[in-house]
Amino acid sequence: MKLAARVGKVLPSLTLGISAKAKAMKADGIDVCSLSAGEPDFDTPEHIKAAAQKALDIGYTKYGPAGGEPKLKEAIANKLSQENGLNYKAENIIVTNGGKHSLFNLMLALIEPGDEVIIPAPYWLSYPEMVKLAGGTPIILTTDAETAYKITPEQLRQGITNKTKLLVLNSPSNPTGVVYQPEEIKALAEVVVEQNILVVSDEIYEKIIYDDTQHLSIGAVNSEIFKNTIVSNGFAKTYSMTGWRVGYLAAPVKLINATVKIQGHSTSNVCTFAQYGAIAALDSSQDCIEQMRQAFAKRRHIIYDLLNAMPGISCNQPDGAFYIFVNISKISSSSLEFCNALLEDQNVAVIPGVAFGADDHIRISYATDLVTIEKGMDRLQQFVRSRT
Ligand code: GLU
Repeated sequence: MKLAARVGKVLPSLTLGISAKAKAMKADGIDVCSLSAGEPDFDTPEHIKAAAQKALDIGYTKYGPAGGEPKLKEAIANKLSQENGLNYKAENIIVTNGGKHSLFNLMLALIEPGDEVIIPAPYWLSYPEMVKLAGGTPIILTTDAETAYKITPEQLRQGITNKTKLLVLNSPSNPTGVVYQPEEIKALAEVVVEQNILVVSDEIYEKIIYDDTQHLSIGAVNSEIFKNTIVSNGFAKTYSMTGWRVGYLAAPVKLINATVKIQGHSTSNVCTFAQYGAIAALDSSQDCIEQMRQAFAKRRHIIYDLLNAMPGISCNQPDGAFYIFVNISKISSSSLEFCNALLEDQNVAVIPGVAFGADDHIRISYATDLVTIEKGMDRLQQFVRSRT
C-alpha cells in the first residue's frame, strides 16, 4: 500500500506517544512518575459536568450546527470582548474539537504550497506538522535561555519574506512557560502590521500565569492589528477539560466561514452535550480557575527549587503554563536518549526537547500532584548524579 506523501513529511506526536507509554506502564503495575503530558490532574469542576449531564438528559444528543451551538459562540464572543478587549461577535467564532483542531482548521483554510509560516522555537510540537500537512513551509526562529526564549521584533522582521503569510505566537508558551510582556507584544504587533502578515495567537494557557505576570492578547493592541489577528483558545487547560475536546477560533468572518466549510466535511459539530458543559464553564463562577492556578503556582515553586539545586542541569523559572524547560546539554547530547534512559532506569516520563525544536532540553510538566512531582524529582536527581 502506498501512503500519501504528506504522511511521510510529518512526525508522530511525542507528547501523546510518551504519555500513552507512561499510562500503559502504570497499567502494568509499574510505579511510573508521569511528568509528560500537559494535562491538569484535577477533575472537571462539578457544575460543568452537571450541565453536560443535564444536556444529555434533555436530549441534546443530535447533530448541531457545524460551527458550534449559537449560545456557546455567543458566550465565547462575550468572554473575548470582556476579558481580552477583542471586539468579536458570535459570527467571528467557530467551536472546534479542541484547541489543536482549531489550529488545524486554520492551517487548512489559510495555508497553501509556497506559503511560509513563522514559528518561534521552542514551539509546541504540532505547529510545524500542521503547517506541513497544509502544504506550507514552517520557518523556525530560534531562541534560547539568554533571550528568555522570546523572539525580538528585529528577529521577526528578518524572518519575514514575500512568502510569509502567518506568525504563530504562543504566550504563555508550551514548552517554555514564557509569557511575553505587554510591551513585547506591542512591539511584535507593530512588525506584523508594518509587514502586513497575519498572526495566530494561541492563548490556551492564558489563565495559568504567576506572580505579577500579565497576559495581553495581541489583537487587543489596536484596531489595525485586530484585523490581522486570529485567536485560538479552548477549555482543556483552563477548566481541566482535556478529554471533552472543546476549543475555538476567533477571526474575521470570511476566515471563520472557510473553517466552518472545512469542519462541515470533516468532524461536523463538536459533541453537542459537551458544548453545554462549555457554556456552563463560561457562564458560571470562575473561582475554579483560581483554585487550580494556585495549586500550579505552588507546584511551580517547588519544582523550580528542586531543579535549581541539581548540579549539571539548568532552567528558567516559568511565568506561565505548567511546564518547566530544562537544559540537559551537560548530561546528554540527545534529549531522546536522555528521556528514554530516564524512563527505563528511573520510571520517570518527561518529553524530549527535540520534539519542540530544542534537542538540548527536556520538558517537565507539573500538572500533576505534589507527591509525584517530588518523587519524580528525587529520581531525576539520582539519574543526573549517576551521569555526572
Ligand atoms: N498540549 C498538551 C501537551 O503538550 C497535550 C498533548 C498534545 O496535545 O500534544 O502535552
